[in-house]
Amino acid sequence: MKKIQNLPLHWQILCGMALGALGGLILQFGQAFLDPFISNSGILSFLTEGLVQINHSVGQVFLRALRLIAVPIVIVSLILGAGQLNDVRAIGRIGIKTAIIYLFTTAMAITIGLLTAILLQPGRFVPQAVRDGLAQAGKSIAQGKIEGAVSPSFWENVVNIVPTNPFSAVVEGNMIQVVFLSLCSGLLLSQVPKAQAKSILDLSEALNSLLIALVTVLMKLSPVAVFCLMLEVTASLGADILGAVFVYCLSVIIGLSVMLFGVYPLLLRGGAGRPFVPFVQAIAPAQLLAFSSSSSAATLPVTMECAEKNLKVSNDVRSFVLPLGATINMDGTALYQGVASLFIAQLYGIDLGFNELLTIVLTATLASIGTAGVPGVGLIMLVIVLESIGLSPEVMAAGLAIIFGVDRILDMCRTTVNVSGDCMVAVLVDHLEQKNKVE
Ligand code: ASP
Repeated sequence: MKKIQNLPLHWQILCGMALGALGGLILQFGQAFLDPFISNSGILSFLTEGLVQINHSVGQVFLRALRLIAVPIVIVSLILGAGQLNDVRAIGRIGIKTAIIYLFTTAMAITIGLLTAILLQPGRFVPQAVRDGLAQAGKSIAQGKIEGAVSPSFWENVVNIVPTNPFSAVVEGNMIQVVFLSLCSGLLLSQVPKAQAKSILDLSEALNSLLIALVTVLMKLSPVAVFCLMLEVTASLGADILGAVFVYCLSVIIGLSVMLFGVYPLLLRGGAGRPFVPFVQAIAPAQLLAFSSSSSAATLPVTMECAEKNLKVSNDVRSFVLPLGATINMDGTALYQGVASLFIAQLYGIDLGFNELLTIVLTATLASIGTAGVPGVGLIMLVIVLESIGLSPEVMAAGLAIIFGVDRILDMCRTTVNVSGDCMVAVLVDHLEQKNKVE
């Protein structure tokens, strides 16, 4: 036990993940194995369900605690960051650089997703009978997802950045509005006389220390939480469905790997002169938590902590780029939506021309921006991409029914890329800012 506690945190989390996955698999397959030997099989499933429920609850308490501190962390660090800025124009510069790099990496991710699906043709590997069986079985759930999709209106989203009520922005945890509010407050604070700004800055400093102490405690608990989250996921994983759409899953995972291990290292090296391996070591706790929770929003406090302590990204960049990234920058989700759209089209023998592929790039960029950083939303927003290329409601429902059975596992992978992408952009923007200051 002592030995495990002495391991670096990311190894502890990895152990928690591995043990949780193993526990989940034992629960999933152990029940089927023991069933013939036990006369009262009701007891067995009662015990299994009870164990899964306990782990689910512990995992959720942990995620709720993280989400609880996400908004205060963003407010406090932005007020401190912007409030102590000597050069107010810096925020404009950071904003423009961040937006350009976010858009560029998102479009790149979708293109990689499309290319992967064109090369591997995952839709051709599902026999028609299996396709129709899966489509029929998941019909009603797919319908629910389609109804849940709300098409994001670009201008409406722009207008919504400004909250009408500061309290509702905070209460609803609307991250973009919270960022806007805190940024404006911080910037204005830097304009008022120092003596008057001091008390607010001192209070923010004190709150910041408190929140850092809370994140530290939660990070210490994360190996246990990750154990519970992984156990729940693997215990309820549909292994049979995984077999049926294996090449599709493989295509998403290959595309995500190209992004994570190909594009990000190139951008990091080319844009900031930073090697990739130390970068991954620095953000490993955030990546592992993103993988087990499938939520970039819940991972945000840990992402910010890793960016500060391990990547040494300055506060003004970190406190702006990361919350924004957790809300709008979803490279993994965008890539996944590219693969999934082509997969569904291939399943139903629909040929997509260059115009449709371009439409996918544009709508998946918007859909990924509109995707909230919580589990499963990427699949719901996929509806908007499918609608944009003119798939009929029947094909859309059938396609979603076929892929939602494996969505959780792909969500885990894409969320890891989403969080890694945010950190990569934070490093790039920070590097560009430092260069700017030197010049
Ligand atoms: N779960 C993803 C995230 O939190 C969003 C999604 O693709 O569903 O980043």
